Amino acid sequence: MIAVLKNGTSEKQIDSLCTWLKTQGLDVHISKGSEHTVIGLIGDTSKIDAELIESLDIVETVKRISEPFKSANRKFHPDDSIINVGNTSVGGDIFAIMAGPCSVESEEQVMEIAKAVKASGATMLRGGAFKPRTSPYDFQGLKACGIEFLLEAKKETGLPIVTEIMNANHLSLFEEVDVIQVGARNMQNFELLKELGRTKKTILLKRGLANTIKEFLMSAEYIMAGGNENIILCERGIRTFETYTRNTLDLSAIPTLRELTHLPIIVDPSHATGVARLVKPMALAAAAAGADGLMIEVHNDPTHALCDGAQSLTPDAFADVTAAVRKVLDAVKGVY
Ligand code: PEP
Ligand code: MN
Repeated sequence: MIAVLKNGTSEKQIDSLCTWLKTQGLDVHISKGSEHTVIGLIGDTSKIDAELIESLDIVETVKRISEPFKSANRKFHPDDSIINVGNTSVGGDIFAIMAGPCSVESEEQVMEIAKAVKASGATMLRGGAFKPRTSPYDFQGLKACGIEFLLEAKKETGLPIVTEIMNANHLSLFEEVDVIQVGARNMQNFELLKELGRTKKTILLKRGLANTIKEFLMSAEYIMAGGNENIILCERGIRTFETYTRNTLDLSAIPTLRELTHLPIIVDPSHATGVARLVKPMALAAAAAGADGLMIEVHNDPTHALCDGAQSLTPDAFADVTAAVRKVLDAVKGVY
Protein backbone atom coordinates (compact mmCIF):
# COMPACT_ATOMS: atom_id res chain seq x y z
CA MET A 1 0.00 0.00 0.00
CA ILE A 2 1.28 3.48 -0.73
CA ALA A 3 0.13 6.81 0.67
CA VAL A 4 0.82 9.95 -1.35
CA LEU A 5 1.03 12.98 0.94
CA LYS A 6 -0.21 16.46 0.11
CA ASN A 7 2.18 19.12 -1.07
CA GLY A 8 3.53 21.12 1.84
CA THR A 9 3.27 18.39 4.49
CA SER A 10 5.82 19.16 7.24
CA GLU A 11 8.54 16.80 8.50
CA LYS A 12 6.82 16.72 11.87
CA GLN A 13 3.52 15.57 10.30
CA ILE A 14 5.33 12.90 8.27
CA ASP A 15 7.10 11.68 11.41
CA SER A 16 3.92 11.45 13.41
CA LEU A 17 2.12 9.55 10.60
CA CYS A 18 5.06 7.11 10.33
CA THR A 19 5.11 6.57 14.07
CA TRP A 20 1.40 5.74 14.02
CA LEU A 21 1.80 3.36 11.05
CA LYS A 22 4.59 1.54 12.92
CA THR A 23 2.28 1.03 15.89
CA GLN A 24 -0.02 -0.78 13.41
CA GLY A 25 2.76 -3.34 12.84
CA LEU A 26 3.98 -1.91 9.52
CA ASP A 27 7.34 -0.74 8.30
CA VAL A 28 7.49 2.43 6.24
CA HIS A 29 9.57 3.49 3.29
CA ILE A 30 9.63 7.24 2.67
CA SER A 31 10.34 8.62 -0.77
CA LYS A 32 10.56 12.40 -1.18
CA GLY A 33 9.83 13.84 -4.62
CA SER A 34 9.97 17.46 -5.74
CA GLU A 35 6.26 17.95 -5.04
CA HIS A 36 4.97 14.96 -3.12
CA THR A 37 6.21 12.62 -0.44
CA VAL A 38 5.19 9.00 -0.91
CA ILE A 39 5.09 6.58 2.02
CA GLY A 40 5.32 2.88 1.19
CA LEU A 41 3.62 0.67 3.80
CA ILE A 42 5.49 -2.60 4.13
CA GLY A 43 4.05 -5.70 5.81
CA ASP A 44 0.59 -7.21 6.17
CA THR A 45 -1.69 -4.36 5.14
CA SER A 46 -4.78 -6.59 4.99
CA LYS A 47 -6.01 -5.23 8.34
CA ILE A 48 -5.30 -1.58 7.49
CA ASP A 49 -8.24 0.70 6.78
CA ALA A 50 -7.12 2.48 3.59
CA GLU A 51 -10.08 4.86 3.76
CA LEU A 52 -9.15 5.96 7.26
CA ILE A 53 -5.61 6.84 6.11
CA GLU A 54 -7.00 8.61 3.06
CA SER A 55 -9.23 10.73 5.29
CA LEU A 56 -6.25 12.26 7.09
CA ASP A 57 -5.65 15.94 6.33
CA ILE A 58 -2.10 15.40 5.03
CA VAL A 59 -2.93 12.46 2.73
CA GLU A 60 -3.75 13.04 -0.92
CA THR A 61 -4.47 9.44 -1.92
CA VAL A 62 -3.90 5.82 -0.87
CA LYS A 63 -3.37 2.92 -3.27
CA ARG A 64 -3.41 -0.77 -2.46
CA ILE A 65 -0.63 -2.67 -4.21
CA SER A 66 -1.56 -6.06 -2.78
CA GLU A 67 -5.08 -7.38 -2.34
CA PRO A 68 -6.63 -7.58 1.15
CA PHE A 69 -7.39 -11.29 0.73
CA LYS A 70 -4.53 -13.61 1.65
CA SER A 71 -5.74 -17.21 2.03
CA ALA A 72 -7.78 -17.10 -1.18
CA ASN A 73 -5.01 -15.31 -3.08
CA ARG A 74 -3.29 -17.14 -5.92
CA LYS A 75 -0.09 -15.22 -5.20
CA PHE A 76 0.42 -17.23 -2.03
CA HIS A 77 -0.96 -20.49 -3.47
CA PRO A 78 -0.10 -20.66 -7.19
CA ASP A 79 -1.57 -24.13 -7.82
CA ASP A 80 -5.30 -24.61 -8.40
CA SER A 81 -7.06 -26.01 -5.33
CA ILE A 82 -8.83 -29.29 -5.85
CA ILE A 83 -11.74 -29.83 -3.48
CA ASN A 84 -12.58 -33.48 -2.89
CA VAL A 85 -16.26 -34.20 -2.43
CA GLY A 86 -17.21 -37.83 -1.70
CA ASN A 87 -16.17 -39.89 -4.69
CA THR A 88 -15.63 -36.87 -6.92
CA SER A 89 -13.92 -33.48 -6.86
CA VAL A 90 -14.17 -29.88 -8.02
CA GLY A 91 -11.26 -27.99 -9.50
CA GLY A 92 -9.26 -30.86 -10.94
CA ASP A 93 -9.66 -32.79 -14.17
CA ILE A 94 -13.28 -33.62 -13.47
CA PHE A 95 -15.78 -31.03 -14.77
CA ALA A 96 -18.27 -30.81 -11.90
CA ILE A 97 -21.96 -30.80 -12.73
CA MET A 98 -24.34 -30.18 -9.84
CA ALA A 99 -27.93 -30.68 -10.90
CA GLY A 100 -31.33 -31.08 -9.32
CA PRO A 101 -34.47 -29.20 -8.37
CA CYS A 102 -34.54 -25.70 -6.97
CA SER A 103 -36.51 -27.14 -4.02
CA VAL A 104 -36.89 -30.64 -2.74
CA GLU A 105 -40.65 -31.20 -2.94
CA SER A 106 -41.06 -34.88 -2.07
CA GLU A 107 -38.95 -38.02 -1.80
CA GLU A 108 -40.32 -39.34 -5.13
CA GLN A 109 -39.58 -36.06 -6.91
CA VAL A 110 -35.97 -35.80 -5.77
CA MET A 111 -35.34 -39.52 -6.33
CA GLU A 112 -36.63 -39.41 -9.91
CA ILE A 113 -34.60 -36.30 -10.72
CA ALA A 114 -31.47 -37.69 -9.02
CA LYS A 115 -31.55 -40.84 -11.14
CA ALA A 116 -32.17 -38.86 -14.33
CA VAL A 117 -29.37 -36.33 -13.79
CA LYS A 118 -26.94 -39.06 -12.80
CA ALA A 119 -27.68 -40.89 -16.05
CA SER A 120 -26.79 -37.70 -17.98
CA GLY A 121 -23.48 -37.14 -16.22
CA ALA A 122 -24.23 -35.05 -13.12
CA THR A 123 -21.48 -35.48 -10.53
CA MET A 124 -23.55 -34.12 -7.62
CA LEU A 125 -27.20 -33.70 -6.70
CA ARG A 126 -28.43 -30.25 -5.71
CA GLY A 127 -31.73 -29.46 -4.02
CA GLY A 128 -32.96 -26.75 -1.70
CA ALA A 129 -34.38 -27.77 1.67
CA PHE A 130 -34.21 -24.32 3.29
CA LYS A 131 -35.28 -21.81 0.64
CA PRO A 132 -34.52 -18.08 0.70
CA ARG A 133 -37.70 -16.75 -0.94
CA THR A 134 -38.41 -13.11 -1.69
CA SER A 135 -41.98 -13.47 -0.40
CA PRO A 136 -42.73 -14.93 3.04
CA TYR A 137 -45.92 -16.42 1.54
CA ASP A 138 -44.01 -18.57 -0.97
CA PHE A 139 -42.94 -22.17 -0.35
CA GLN A 140 -40.09 -22.06 2.17
CA GLY A 141 -38.77 -25.59 1.59
CA LEU A 142 -39.23 -28.91 3.39
CA LYS A 143 -36.38 -28.05 5.78
CA ALA A 144 -35.01 -31.03 7.81
CA CYS A 145 -37.31 -33.38 5.92
CA GLY A 146 -35.90 -32.11 2.61
CA ILE A 147 -32.39 -32.98 3.76
CA GLU A 148 -33.60 -36.49 4.69
CA PHE A 149 -34.99 -36.97 1.16
CA LEU A 150 -31.71 -35.75 -0.36
CA LEU A 151 -29.82 -38.27 1.79
CA GLU A 152 -32.14 -41.02 0.56
CA ALA A 153 -31.39 -40.01 -3.03
CA LYS A 154 -27.68 -39.99 -2.22
CA LYS A 155 -27.96 -43.52 -0.82
CA GLU A 156 -29.73 -44.70 -3.96
CA THR A 157 -27.55 -42.98 -6.58
CA GLY A 158 -24.21 -42.43 -4.80
CA LEU A 159 -24.29 -38.76 -5.80
CA PRO A 160 -22.89 -36.36 -3.17
CA ILE A 161 -25.45 -33.73 -2.19
CA VAL A 162 -25.39 -29.93 -2.19
CA THR A 163 -27.93 -27.95 -0.20
CA GLU A 164 -28.26 -24.44 1.18
CA ILE A 165 -27.89 -23.31 4.78
CA MET A 166 -29.52 -20.07 5.94
CA ASN A 167 -28.95 -20.21 9.67
CA ALA A 168 -25.88 -21.45 11.55
CA ASN A 169 -28.22 -22.90 14.21
CA HIS A 170 -29.19 -25.53 11.62
CA LEU A 171 -25.62 -26.83 11.20
CA SER A 172 -26.29 -30.09 13.05
CA LEU A 173 -28.82 -31.00 10.32
CA PHE A 174 -26.04 -30.72 7.70
CA GLU A 175 -23.71 -33.35 9.21
CA GLU A 176 -24.14 -35.78 6.30
CA VAL A 177 -24.46 -33.10 3.63
CA ASP A 178 -21.41 -33.15 1.34
CA VAL A 179 -21.45 -29.53 0.21
CA ILE A 180 -23.11 -26.71 2.16
CA GLN A 181 -24.30 -23.91 -0.09
CA VAL A 182 -24.23 -20.28 1.01
CA GLY A 183 -26.72 -18.55 -1.25
CA ALA A 184 -26.34 -15.17 -2.94
CA ARG A 185 -28.43 -13.46 -0.27
CA ASN A 186 -26.15 -14.69 2.50
CA MET A 187 -22.80 -14.04 0.82
CA GLN A 188 -22.17 -11.26 3.29
CA ASN A 189 -23.79 -12.87 6.32
CA PHE A 190 -20.48 -12.65 8.12
CA GLU A 191 -21.59 -14.46 11.29
CA LEU A 192 -22.72 -17.41 9.17
CA LEU A 193 -19.44 -17.35 7.22
CA LYS A 194 -17.41 -17.30 10.46
CA GLU A 195 -19.39 -20.25 11.82
CA LEU A 196 -18.79 -22.22 8.61
CA GLY A 197 -15.10 -21.31 8.85
CA ARG A 198 -14.97 -23.24 12.11
CA THR A 199 -16.17 -26.44 10.36
CA LYS A 200 -14.35 -28.67 7.91
CA LYS A 201 -17.34 -28.89 5.55
CA THR A 202 -17.02 -28.03 1.86
CA ILE A 203 -18.74 -24.72 1.21
CA LEU A 204 -20.24 -23.62 -2.09
CA LEU A 205 -20.20 -19.84 -1.87
CA LYS A 206 -22.45 -18.05 -4.36
CA ARG A 207 -21.73 -14.50 -5.44
CA GLY A 208 -24.12 -11.91 -4.03
CA LEU A 209 -26.67 -10.24 -6.30
CA ALA A 210 -24.84 -6.92 -6.20
CA ASN A 211 -21.37 -7.79 -5.00
CA THR A 212 -18.03 -7.10 -6.60
CA ILE A 213 -15.44 -9.77 -7.23
CA LYS A 214 -13.36 -8.32 -4.42
CA GLU A 215 -16.25 -8.58 -1.96
CA PHE A 216 -16.87 -12.14 -3.18
CA LEU A 217 -13.27 -13.08 -2.42
CA MET A 218 -13.37 -11.32 0.95
CA SER A 219 -16.36 -13.50 1.87
CA ALA A 220 -14.35 -16.60 0.91
CA GLU A 221 -11.58 -15.14 3.06
CA TYR A 222 -13.95 -14.98 6.06
CA ILE A 223 -14.45 -18.75 5.85
CA MET A 224 -10.76 -19.43 5.24
CA ALA A 225 -9.65 -17.16 8.08
CA GLY A 226 -11.43 -19.57 10.43
CA GLY A 227 -9.38 -22.48 9.10
CA ASN A 228 -11.74 -23.97 6.51
CA GLU A 229 -10.12 -23.90 3.07
CA ASN A 230 -12.67 -26.16 1.34
CA ILE A 231 -14.43 -23.56 -0.76
CA ILE A 232 -15.98 -23.63 -4.21
CA LEU A 233 -16.95 -20.26 -5.72
CA CYS A 234 -20.11 -19.91 -7.81
CA GLU A 235 -20.86 -17.10 -10.25
CA ARG A 236 -24.68 -16.92 -10.52
CA GLY A 237 -25.28 -13.63 -12.28
CA ILE A 238 -25.45 -10.13 -10.90
CA ARG A 239 -28.13 -7.47 -10.92
CA THR A 240 -27.88 -4.93 -13.72
CA PHE A 241 -30.32 -2.58 -15.46
CA GLU A 242 -31.30 -5.41 -17.83
CA THR A 243 -34.69 -6.98 -17.15
CA TYR A 244 -35.04 -9.52 -19.98
CA THR A 245 -33.02 -11.94 -17.89
CA ARG A 246 -33.35 -12.53 -14.14
CA ASN A 247 -29.71 -11.48 -13.66
CA THR A 248 -26.76 -10.81 -15.95
CA LEU A 249 -24.23 -13.63 -16.10
CA ASP A 250 -20.80 -12.14 -15.50
CA LEU A 251 -18.74 -14.50 -17.64
CA SER A 252 -15.63 -12.39 -17.23
CA ALA A 253 -15.71 -13.28 -13.52
CA ILE A 254 -14.41 -16.73 -14.52
CA PRO A 255 -11.02 -15.69 -15.97
CA THR A 256 -10.78 -12.81 -13.48
CA LEU A 257 -11.27 -15.08 -10.48
CA ARG A 258 -8.92 -17.60 -12.09
CA GLU A 259 -6.18 -14.93 -12.01
CA LEU A 260 -6.91 -13.78 -8.48
CA THR A 261 -7.60 -17.03 -6.64
CA HIS A 262 -6.68 -20.70 -6.55
CA LEU A 263 -10.23 -21.69 -5.52
CA PRO A 264 -12.38 -23.59 -8.05
CA ILE A 265 -15.07 -21.62 -9.89
CA ILE A 266 -18.39 -22.97 -11.08
CA VAL A 267 -21.23 -21.20 -12.89
CA ASP A 268 -24.99 -21.32 -12.30
CA PRO A 269 -26.67 -20.43 -15.63
CA SER A 270 -30.14 -21.16 -14.19
CA HIS A 271 -30.31 -18.31 -11.66
CA ALA A 272 -28.18 -16.16 -13.95
CA THR A 273 -30.78 -16.16 -16.72
CA GLY A 274 -34.04 -17.26 -15.09
CA VAL A 275 -35.10 -18.72 -18.45
CA ALA A 276 -34.78 -22.44 -19.26
CA ARG A 277 -33.96 -21.94 -22.97
CA LEU A 278 -31.05 -19.63 -22.10
CA VAL A 279 -29.42 -22.16 -19.79
CA LYS A 280 -27.78 -24.17 -22.59
CA PRO A 281 -25.96 -21.32 -24.36
CA MET A 282 -24.77 -19.87 -21.04
CA ALA A 283 -23.63 -23.29 -19.81
CA LEU A 284 -21.62 -23.71 -23.01
CA ALA A 285 -20.17 -20.22 -22.68
CA ALA A 286 -19.13 -20.93 -19.07
CA ALA A 287 -17.45 -24.18 -20.09
CA ALA A 288 -15.62 -22.37 -22.92
CA ALA A 289 -14.52 -19.58 -20.56
CA GLY A 290 -12.77 -22.08 -18.30
CA ALA A 291 -15.24 -22.76 -15.48
CA ASP A 292 -14.57 -25.82 -13.30
CA GLY A 293 -18.18 -26.85 -13.38
CA LEU A 294 -21.85 -25.92 -13.50
CA MET A 295 -24.87 -25.86 -11.25
CA ILE A 296 -28.10 -26.40 -13.16
CA GLU A 297 -31.71 -26.62 -11.97
CA VAL A 298 -33.56 -29.68 -13.28
CA HIS A 299 -37.18 -30.61 -12.56
CA ASN A 300 -39.22 -33.61 -13.66
CA ASP A 301 -42.28 -31.38 -14.11
CA PRO A 302 -41.10 -27.74 -14.45
CA THR A 303 -44.56 -26.26 -15.03
CA HIS A 304 -45.70 -27.52 -11.61
CA ALA A 305 -42.46 -26.77 -9.74
CA LEU A 306 -42.94 -25.08 -6.36
CA CYS A 307 -39.98 -22.82 -7.09
CA ASP A 308 -38.11 -21.59 -10.18
CA GLY A 309 -40.00 -23.69 -12.73
CA ALA A 310 -39.36 -21.15 -15.51
CA GLN A 311 -35.62 -21.71 -15.37
CA SER A 312 -35.70 -25.45 -14.68
CA LEU A 313 -34.69 -27.91 -17.39
CA THR A 314 -36.52 -31.16 -17.99
CA PRO A 315 -34.29 -34.24 -17.62
CA ASP A 316 -34.17 -34.53 -21.45
CA ALA A 317 -33.13 -30.90 -21.90
CA PHE A 318 -30.47 -31.42 -19.21
CA ALA A 319 -29.12 -34.47 -21.08
CA ASP A 320 -28.89 -32.32 -24.22
CA VAL A 321 -26.96 -29.64 -22.29
CA THR A 322 -24.44 -32.06 -20.75
CA ALA A 323 -23.76 -33.66 -24.13
CA ALA A 324 -23.15 -30.23 -25.67
CA VAL A 325 -20.94 -29.17 -22.72
CA ARG A 326 -18.74 -32.25 -23.32
CA LYS A 327 -18.20 -31.10 -26.92
CA VAL A 328 -17.16 -27.63 -25.76
CA LEU A 329 -14.83 -29.07 -23.11
CA ASP A 330 -13.16 -31.25 -25.75
CA ALA A 331 -12.82 -28.25 -28.07
CA VAL A 332 -11.14 -26.05 -25.45
CA LYS A 333 -8.94 -28.75 -23.89
CA GLY A 334 -5.46 -27.38 -23.32
CA VAL A 335 -6.17 -23.82 -24.46
CA TYR A 336 -5.87 -22.23 -21.00
C1 PEP B 1 -30.34 -21.65 -5.27
O1 PEP B 1 -29.28 -22.07 -5.77
O2 PEP B 1 -31.31 -22.36 -5.02
C2 PEP B 1 -30.46 -20.20 -5.00
C3 PEP B 1 -31.40 -19.72 -4.19
O3 PEP B 1 -29.57 -19.45 -5.65
P1 PEP B 1 -29.03 -17.96 -5.39
O4 PEP B 1 -28.63 -17.91 -3.95
O5 PEP B 1 -27.89 -17.86 -6.34
O6 PEP B 1 -30.16 -17.04 -5.73
MN1 MN C 1 -33.70 -21.73 -7.63
